[in-house]
Formats: sequence, structure tokens, C-alpha cells
Amino acid sequence: MILKDKKILVMGIRNKWSIAWGVAKQAYEHGAQLIFTYSSMEKTDKIEELIAEIPGAKAYVCDVQNDEDISNCLENIKKDYGKIDGILHSIAHANTEDLRNDFILTSREGFAHAGDISAYSLIAVSRIAVEKEMLNEGASIIALTYYGSEKSIVGYNVMGVAKAALEASIRYLACDLGKKGMRINAISAGPIKTLSAKGIKDFGSILDIVEEKAPLHENVTTDEIGSVAAFLFSDMAKAITGEVIHADKGFSSVAV
Ligand code: NAP
Repeated sequence: MILKDKKILVMGIRNKWSIAWGVAKQAYEHGAQLIFTYSSMEKTDKIEELIAEIPGAKAYVCDVQNDEDISNCLENIKKDYGKIDGILHSIAHANTEDLRNDFILTSREGFAHAGDISAYSLIAVSRIAVEKEMLNEGASIIALTYYGSEKSIVGYNVMGVAKAALEASIRYLACDLGKKGMRINAISAGPIKTLSAKGIKDFGSILDIVEEKAPLHENVTTDEIGSVAAFLFSDMAKAITGEVIHADKGFSSVAV
């Protein structure tokens, strides 16, 4: 029970295929109390149905494109739960055309949109949580990233650039949060068939290549990402901050 007595906020749940759901299940198995956020009111019924599987869990609407929305949502969570011990940021978005066309055609608006939701929102959430003094000392924040930040991957395009910004932000946030005894890290997950992944061109062939080339010759699961997250949320990981940890069956460690 490495997360016993810890309250973890999971941001970015969409359905049972979401990485956020895999993390939530593992965190719960390890003893955490779960709180969720999701993007918009119209999804309430589906989210309520899903989280009913986790006893005591409650979900709040939070559109991370809007600071006021983040602030109101975190305020409500603080009122209901007091201080929390961890936040999972499992949120990203890019315009479909920016994942379909050549990268060179990325529009100014598309670049800003992907960067805002997929990278800047982590800074906003971290800052607002700190300002509201709702994180316990030793709290751990985790974001999700992908190898497309390090190498160009056909079709990942502007999302690769947003993930590079997210990873750099983690290193800078680690310095600021470290002053308060808090940690922040990213998990670079191997490819997983989720709703967001469906937007990426030829995603099926990316899964096939991982199976062929990764040292462990298989794709990662959301439960496996959840286990890594449970470790990073726990005090067992208290020496780790500012890191990007690859959970990809070793794919990123091989060249050819
Ligand atoms: P997912 O289930 O579609 O989750 C993405 C989440 O982002 C959804 O819940 C989505 O909500 C939310 N979101 C988008 N815009 C938002 C906004 N403005 N405000 C609040 N929430 C917003 O897909 P996923 O694959 O699990 O993605 C989770 C994270 O893992 C992302 O950061 C992704 O880049 C990363 N990741 C995924 C893979 C992969 O292969 N699947 C690999 C490595 C890293 P709505 O859909 O309700 O708008």
C-alpha cells in the first residue's frame, strides 16, 4: 500500500482506455483516494458511470485552456478534500489537420493550441495548486509525454514540439516546486491505442514497429503506466524530480 493515506488528483480522464484510467486504477490498488477532472459538462454521465468503479471517487469539470476554470475547480477540490498529495496531468490536444498534414504546414493557431493545452496547462495547474496551498509537502506531480518529443515521428508533428516544451517545463517546474519540497516528473509512455492516439496517422504501424524493435517486443499497457505512476507518486520516489522516465518496453533505447 505505497499510496495509503494519499489523495491523488487525476486530470484527463475520458474513458476506460485513457491512460489516466490505468493510473487511477493502480493508484487505487496501492491505497490512494482518487479525485478526477474531465474536460466538459456534456461528458458528465459517462464519467460518473466510469468512476463509480472506484469507491469514494468524485469528478469535477476543468477545461485547462481557462485559468479561471482551473482555479474554480481546484478551489472546489480543496474545499471538499483539503490538501492533496499528487496530481496526474494526462491531457493533450492538437488540431486534426496538424496531425494529418506535413509539419511544415502547421499554422500559428495550431501551434499555439497544441502548446496551450498540452504543455502550458501543466504550468498553470502547478502554479494555481501552489497558490491555493493545496499541495502537501512531498507532493508529486506527473505528466504524460511521448518519444515524439525527442525524435521526429511521422504524423506526431506539432504534438512532438508541444511534448518537448512539456518536458522542458518539467525541469524548470522541478526547481520551483523543489523549494517547497514537492516533485514533478514525466512518464514517456510507449504508444497505446486510446482515443487521442486515433488522431495520429498510421498509429497501427507505430504499434507494430514497437513490437518488432523494442527489447521487450511488446507494447505497453495503461496498467503498466499506472504502476510507474504509483511509484512516482509514492515516497519511494522521493529522490526523483525533473525527470522524464521512459516506460516504453525499451523502445527509445535502441537505434535500429
Ligand atoms: P485520452 O484518453 O484521449 O486522454 C486525453 C485527455 O485530454 C482527454 O481526457 C481529453 O478530454 C483531455 N483534454 C483535451 N483537451 C482538454 C482541455 N482543454 N481541458 C481538459 N482536458 C482536456 O488519451 P490518452 O492517450 O490517454 O492521453 C493522455 C496523455 O498521455 C496525453 O498527454 C497524451 O499525449 C499522453 N500520451 C499518450 C500516448 C498514447 O500512445 N496514447 C503515449 C504517450 C503519451 P476530452 O477528450 O474530454 O476533451
